[in-house]
Amino acid sequence: MKKELNIAVLPVEAGETERLKSVVADTLKVDRDRIFQITVVRHSIDARNSRIRINLSLEVYIDEKPDQIPKPVFNYPFVGNKKPVVIVGAGPAGLFAALHLIEIGFRPIILERGKQVSQRKKDIAAIHGAHLINPDSNYGFGEGGAGTFSDGKLYTRSRKRGDVRKILEVLNFHGAQDEILVEAHPHIGTNFLPRVIGSIRDTIEQSGGSYHFNSRVTDLILDDDRIKGVVLQNGDKVEGIAVILATGHSARDIYYVLHKKSIELEAKSFALGVRIEHPQELIDKIQYHGTNRGKYLPPAAYTMVEQVGDRGVYSFCMCPGGVVVPAATAPGELVVNGMSPSHRGGKFANSGMVTEIRPEDIPKEFQRFGIFAGLEFQQAVERNCFRAAGESMLAPAQRLADFTYNRKSSSLPDTSYRPGLIPSNMCDWLPVFVTARLREGLIKMGKKSNGYLTNDAIVLGAETRTSSPLRIPRSDETLEHLQIKGLFPCGEGSGYAGGIVSSAVDGERVADMIGQLFKP
Ligand SMILES: Cc1cc2nc3c(=O)[nH]c(=O)nc-3n(C[C@H](O)[C@H](O)[C@H](O)COP(=O)(O)OP(=O)(O)OC[C@H]3O[C@@H](n4cnc5c(N)ncnc54)[C@H](O)[C@@H]3O)c2cc1C
Repeated sequence: MKKELNIAVLPVEAGETERLKSVVADTLKVDRDRIFQITVVRHSIDARNSRIRINLSLEVYIDEKPDQIPKPVFNYPFVGNKKPVVIVGAGPAGLFAALHLIEIGFRPIILERGKQVSQRKKDIAAIHGAHLINPDSNYGFGEGGAGTFSDGKLYTRSRKRGDVRKILEVLNFHGAQDEILVEAHPHIGTNFLPRVIGSIRDTIEQSGGSYHFNSRVTDLILDDDRIKGVVLQNGDKVEGIAVILATGHSARDIYYVLHKKSIELEAKSFALGVRIEHPQELIDKIQYHGTNRGKYLPPAAYTMVEQVGDRGVYSFCMCPGGVVVPAATAPGELVVNGMSPSHRGGKFANSGMVTEIRPEDIPKEFQRFGIFAGLEFQQAVERNCFRAAGESMLAPAQRLADFTYNRKSSSLPDTSYRPGLIPSNMCDWLPVFVTARLREGLIKMGKKSNGYLTNDAIVLGAETRTSSPLRIPRSDETLEHLQIKGLFPCGEGSGYAGGIVSSAVDGERVADMIGQLFKP
């Protein structure tokens, strides 16, 4: 007999199989020897008060063994002789579009400006060591896209669009841990992600799809209001029945390509600020109410949000046990972001702390750039940051309480940021309206979260790549660009998605739409 049970238990009871069995036996009032197996279907932590509990949804097998539950299996037919669809960008949006196109009988041709994931690692090492940025291969660009060297957090607030569960199952099918199917806040970790991305490539290539690396798209081939294909930087032309533009929000050059072709873009809100790094132990103490985390609780995460005037100040992409990384995509810019390995075992906890920037907030001097005002403003902040770092990949940094109360930091603590820190008064080079909002927001957060606003933490700059300052407008019905038939803006760069899962879901939706509009 199988029984389903929702139960809240102590961390140690969730962590020790035999203890969990006893609790389940007591709850169900059955002899513990009759319990053959307990399967965790859902796992989440409730740390709202000092009696921390683990919420579990369980399947309990009494007097019987469970049937071998088959893992989801996906069939990718051979599509080498089918109609081609051009996909620009091998990030989550592009890759999930490709996988779904294969499922419905189209042949994806993936064009990627960067390198294969294994070769990308060398360029990333050069950013840390030699402070050199390859504008086609870095933390943002290359196979797997921006999320490859990341925490791989797989949760999204959006439940409306598409099938989040399928995305997790496809990742699991390609080698991601089983836990991602169970955890309330799943994450893969930067140590696993490259392997998953490589396995997705195997599927796509074995099914007759193709990858072209070092292939930056520099132009579009248009025939009136219909797209026929794209042009690469070496002049080669690649044509297909449709073009999926999944270039991410860091590919600024593609927005200029569209603009030059008189293809409509829209300005949109984005967010900008700093990254904050605390000792993980301190965040554990705050989140777990001063109790020792012990071996049964994971490194704690946090989410903060405050309203300052009519704008939000909020934490973004929090990485427990993670490291801060230099995530710029062009020389002369400095951008920070965060990532963590699957075990999240590092000494530090980092998170973006950003404020919303609406088009009307952009300083006047950038308005001359018209539709590109937000993008130019974002880039100017990154360049200021690079200058504040003495034109290097060192991160300008200040102690958190010093930043909040506008005091100079005479020294800086240890950090996970490998290129190193340079002491900086962040208010000297970040826009005043941004620092004023961040500081006010941080004071409010410090009042609610005792111990958070401390000089044992640092702020590092600049966190700018939260979302795209531009949208490539598309039809709600067909997902095509409003003006250009056959052109499908997709993923984070289109302005219709944000994060790994929502970009992947968008990729699936766009592929699905192509299936409806074109015959395989
Ligand atoms: C360090 C870091 C950590 C992150 N951590 C997380 C996380 O834990 N969870 C989460 O949900 N999100 C995270 N993100 C954000 C996440 O990576 C993005 O939201 C997601 O990757 C967007 O997917 P995408 O496919 O739309 O675009 P991208 O992933 O940006 O992919 C776009 C691809 O297009 C390619 N490209 C660009 N221009 C061209 C061109 N002209 N020609 C050919 N190819 C081109 C790029 O090289 C890139 O590979 C993180 C980002 C970074 C940088």
